[in-house]
Amino acid sequence: MITEDARELLATGAVCDSCLGRPFADRSFGLTNAERGRALRTTVALAADDDFEPDEPTNCWVCEGYCGTFDAVAAAVVDALEGVEFATYQVGSQVPPLVEENERLFREDAGLDPEVGESMKREVNREVGRRIGAKTGTDVDFDRPDVLAVVDLAGFDPLETLESDSVTSHAVDVQVNPAFVYGRYRKLERDVPQTEWPCRECGASGVQLGDDGEEPCDHCDGTGYMYETSVEQVVRPHVVEAMDGDEGTFHGAGREDVDARMLEEGRPFVLEVKRPRVRDPDPAELEREINAAAEGAVEVDGLRLATYEMVERVKEHDASKHYRADVEFGDPVDREAFEAALEELSGTTVEQYTPQRVDHRRANLTRERTVYEIDGELLEPTRADVRLHGAGGLYVKELISSDDGRTEPSLAGLLETDAEVTALDVTGVEGEDEPFEREAYFRDEPREA
Ligand SMILES: [Zn+2]
Ligand SMILES: [Zn+2]
Repeated sequence: MITEDARELLATGAVCDSCLGRPFADRSFGLTNAERGRALRTTVALAADDDFEPDEPTNCWVCEGYCGTFDAVAAAVVDALEGVEFATYQVGSQVPPLVEENERLFREDAGLDPEVGESMKREVNREVGRRIGAKTGTDVDFDRPDVLAVVDLAGFDPLETLESDSVTSHAVDVQVNPAFVYGRYRKLERDVPQTEWPCRECGASGVQLGDDGEEPCDHCDGTGYMYETSVEQVVRPHVVEAMDGDEGTFHGAGREDVDARMLEEGRPFVLEVKRPRVRDPDPAELEREINAAAEGAVEVDGLRLATYEMVERVKEHDASKHYRADVEFGDPVDREAFEAALEELSGTTVEQYTPQRVDHRRANLTRERTVYEIDGELLEPTRADVRLHGAGGLYVKELISSDDGRTEPSLAGLLETDAEVTALDVTGVEGEDEPFEREAYFRDEPREA
């Protein structure tokens, strides 16, 4: 009987309405625990025809006053988030072990299950969260909030807070989750890596030790980097600045060789911004800014605000690639033989043993990859233009050269002459089963074409 239980709980000592209501938290959805507690206290007093005597959190032996501090805690969280843009939040809390022990004793002393109803921790999270939402016009998100506030109740004295109505700032820790911008990049010049490439010799410091002390590193001409720029270095600073974040990380959907261009549709990427204070920059504006500053070496396209899941999407989504290659042959090649070789390769699954040029720390193995389509034009007896569409992971340079027989079949093998890719362009990266760009992965509306 609920009134009986309430009477037993009240007999344990002075308790506040929230603490009295919490063991009954699974009853009457839509009430706060304080409202449940107040109603039970009233019912018990009426039934016994006793004088009504409320107990404030200040006197509560269970929460020791914490249930009266929700407003002050929420205000401290909102203060800590000053200047940070967010649409969703989540609150976590640490409850002092002594208070958790009180909660158990409270129920046990009244003859109830020590776990019955709701825990103090859940009440703090919900009540503080509700107040943050009301003050800032934002919504709770238990899955992937923009910001996360963790409240350490042991970090302040509840009775002092009940007097001063404020909470020391070190009791509240706010984390701002990263924000993401998706796009496709084109690399219009060769010898531009996708991500920045620090010099190994000097550990990116740009200096080496000479006879007369420090001098510019020979290996990188004192720049600290192996290449002047990279796609990452072109894109990152603008996105980080537009989102007023602390730093950025570039995630590409695979990568082309440094000496290959990336043309036409471009390659999907996500730029992740840590601790953004702005979450909704204008992607069109950002795109113009990046392209103007890149001066033609790199271009970006189709920038949109993306969800957290888009990082895994660009990294894991199976994609096929389109290529264009300049090919040179060791001996003159007959046009019919050239066309017959391409026909033979088209639709074929090739076996590729790990290429000699690939990092030797990687395990050697044979992979099978399909050449969906290959086509080309013999420009001169020793020179051809080849276009192909292949499964992700196909080694294109080796498909042409055979890599001393490590790829089988190959263009060189079928023509029985040396063949070498002298210039390679990636002309498309597309999802095998479905496009990278599904609306579920975006936070903004599609732009008008
Ligand atoms: Zn209490
Ligand atoms: Zn160096």
